[in-house]
Parts: sequence; C-alpha cells; structure tokens
Amino acid sequence: MFQSQYVKKVYDDLAEKSKGETEFLQAALEILESLEPYVLSHPEIEKNKILERFVEPERFVQFRVAWVDDKGEIQINRGYRVQYNSSIGPYKGGLRFHPSVNASIIKFLGLEQVLKNSLTTLPMGGGKGGSDFDPKGKSDHEIMSFCQAFMTELYRHIGEDTDVPAGDIGVGGREIGYLYGQYKRIQNKTVGVLTGKGIPYGGSLARTEATGYGLLYFTAEALKVMKKDTLSGKTVVISGSGNVAIYACEKATQLGAKVVALSDSNGYIYDKNGIQLDVVKEIKEVRRGRIKEYVETISGAEYHEGSKGIWSIPCDVAFPCATQNELDLEDAKLLVQNGVIAVCEGANMPSTLEAAKYFMEHKIIYGPAKAANAGGVATSGLEMCQNSARLSWSFEEVDAKLKDIMVNIFHNVYDTAKALGNPYDTLAGANIAGFEKVSKAMLALGVY
Ligand code: NDP
Repeated sequence: MFQSQYVKKVYDDLAEKSKGETEFLQAALEILESLEPYVLSHPEIEKNKILERFVEPERFVQFRVAWVDDKGEIQINRGYRVQYNSSIGPYKGGLRFHPSVNASIIKFLGLEQVLKNSLTTLPMGGGKGGSDFDPKGKSDHEIMSFCQAFMTELYRHIGEDTDVPAGDIGVGGREIGYLYGQYKRIQNKTVGVLTGKGIPYGGSLARTEATGYGLLYFTAEALKVMKKDTLSGKTVVISGSGNVAIYACEKATQLGAKVVALSDSNGYIYDKNGIQLDVVKEIKEVRRGRIKEYVETISGAEYHEGSKGIWSIPCDVAFPCATQNELDLEDAKLLVQNGVIAVCEGANMPSTLEAAKYFMEHKIIYGPAKAANAGGVATSGLEMCQNSARLSWSFEEVDAKLKDIMVNIFHNVYDTAKALGNPYDTLAGANIAGFEKVSKAMLALGVY
C-alpha cells in the first residue's frame, strides 16, 4: 500500500490513536497515500515531522449544547469545533447539523478543509464544526433556541481573525442568521465572524450559489482541457437536493446540460424532460419539503425509494452532492458501464477511495471534492474580504472572481497530476498542490 516507511508509520500511528474514527482514517489514508511522491522528493518533510503535525489538529473542542424545545423539555446535544491548521490563515470551514455528526466526521471534514482552502489560493486555514442536532421536523423557534445555545459556547473559540465558521449540511441562511445574531449579542461587535450571512447584514452576493456554480466552472474547464468537450447537450445526474445540488443544477442547465435526477436521503426523482428547478426550489427552499413531492406537480416524472438507485441512471456527467460515501465501487462500475465521462464531487468525500480510483483508472474525469467544491469556501473568503473592507461587490463581480478561482484550481490540480505522470490522477494532483503551500508555511513558522 505505502512506498515510504515514513508515511506508513505516520498512518499506522494515527490509526492506533484514532480507533473507530472510520471517516477520519479514510480521509487520512487517501491523503497520505497520494502525498508519497512529494514526501519522497522533499526530505525536509520527514526531518521536520511535518506529516505528523499535519494530521494532528491544532485544537479540538467538544461541548454540551443544552436548549429547551417547544414542549418545554430540556434537550442536550453535542457540539464540536476542530481548528485543524492555521499556518496559512485563520481557521475556516463550515458547521454541520446532522444526527450522524461525531468526532470522526468533524475531523475528516477538517483535514480535507485544510487542503481545500489552500487550493483556493486565499489565506485561509482549515477548520470544521457542528452538532448531532437534527434540524428536521423542528420549528423555527426550536432552530433559533438551538443555534443560540450552540453559539453561547462557540463564541469564545472563534473570531474574525481567528476562526470563521460557515454553513454545511443542515446549516443554511436561517441558521447562520440565528448564530450570528447571538454572537453579536454576546460580543457587541459587528464583524465578519461567520460567512454565508444574509445580504442585509453583511453577506456576499453569490455565496448561496457559489459551491454549485463553482463545481460547474471546474467541470466545464476540465471537459474543455481534458476532452475538448463542453457541457452543452450532456445528460446530468445530481445527488442531493440541498444547497449544493440546487445550484449545481441551475448552472448545469444554464450551460446547456439536461439534469434528469435529484435525490434526498429517502429516494430520487427522475424527469427525462429535464428537472424544473423552480419546482424544486419551491419544495426545498420555501416549504422545506421532501424531493418526492416533485412528482405531485410534474406529470411524467418518477419517484423511486432509496437514494442509491440514482447511480443506475445512464448519464454523461455525475455530480454527487449529498454526503460522504454515497457512491461506492459498485456505483462507480455502473456509471462507467453506462458511459459516464466525468464525475465531479459537490459533496465532501462522496466517493469511496475504491470508487475514486476506479474512475481515475478508467480515464474518467474525476473532480475530487477538495478541488471541485472549493467554490463555496472561496466565496466565503471573498465575503471576509468585503466585510473587512466594509463594502459589497456586485453579483457579477463575485461570480467572475469565483470562476477565475475555479479555473485556476483546475489548472493547478491538472498540472500537478501531469507532472506526476498521469493527468487523470487528480486526487494526487489536488492533495499535493494543496499540501505544498501548507507544508512550506509550517516549515517557515517553526515548530508548533
Ligand atoms: P444541505 O443540508 O443543503 O443538503 C444536503 C442534501 O443531502 C439534502 O438533500 C439531504 O437530504 C441529502 N443527504 C444528507 N444525508 C444524506 C444521506 N445519508 N443520503 C442521501 N442524501 C443525504 O447541505 P449542502 O448542500 O450544503 O451540503 C451537501 C454536501 O456538500 C455536504 O457533503 C457538504 O459538506 C458539501 N459542501 C457544502 C458546501 C456549501 O457551501 N454548502 C461547501 C462545500 C461542500 P435529506 O433532506 O433527506 O437529509
């Protein structure tokens, strides 16, 4: 598995210390394996124990979140924030509210975030946080109570120049509003301490759209460079129906593709005529309903129970935009058999390592999450710039900067992969391109 005894030892020691942290070890293995060529040609990494320091978070905070529900019952959840690496800038990364959240998931997301943020070229370190709180079925008042209780502890660990959280699964504009309101109340400061804020109180235009749009800008550039092709006329399948999936669908449609499927954790919809996004937005963004309600409005569209079945739909381009490990080797084989030419990740680590390797071995354009979905955090970085300068840019200005960043990320990843001898090994390309900057900063900053 490993060519370098040093890298193997770093992984083995981490595995020993992190027993049971499945997702975290999966992400660490993927990253460490692909960093080997760089580590072997840069002896200063081993000499200065950079990898040992890189995989260990600078700080990991776990805390109790006690709040009162609408029936007057006290509820207790667990909150987390990992401040993974600040060598190139303040910690930056989203908050996830989902019952599956635990230390392993927060650490895997945090480690990935370090490399992703480096790839954006903006000065942002990596962090991540969240809670096992389940927003589904909660009233607005309960969401607000929880967010206020969560921030009542989190505020002491964050700051506009220290750590700047944002949204992720289960944390959208509404939650960011309640979290920011509580931060302001406690600190009596109006600063850019959270991103993904609403436009009236310091948010950036195009942040809502950024991850999905950025994914499409990355994919369009990859298709142009690697296959001399475009998205026009392509059949597209997108998993999920949250923030990333909706705006990936919007931009794919604008670029001339036909999106035929979307999903949620219960099942998927198939509309051979092309998904009507205004209907999806009304269901998901306005009513906070389920994706199966689509077929009640659109005749001829189908709903199928079970979200995994979405990968059996023949398509040219697939965008997994729901959650980690939603696409395994069997799904990858099915997609390739059905003629897929590109699979780019909107979600974080949606493909298992075996699935990702299968795509790359079969010369499918594979856009690893830390590169392909970096548009969200990049635009959060742009929101931080606007907040610091006390001004706001137009939608077109932000969107143009986002596009430039995504095109640049693709070329950085692709050029690095090519230099390693395989332009399709975008996983190594992304990991090494992201790691190079972080490791140089860590070397320059001395032992810490
Ligand atoms: P949302 O909460 O807006 O949407 C999540 C979507 O994924 C929902 O449709 C949800 O369905 C579905 N989903 C969640 N868990 C599962 C599961 N186990 N199986 C199938 N579907 C599931 O989250 P986002 O769109 O913001 O995030 C989606 C992914 O993108 C995550 O991996 C996130 O880390 C990543 N990401 C998000 C960024 C952003 O800017 N928002 C930035 C970069 C990455 P249901 O309603 O049934 O739960």
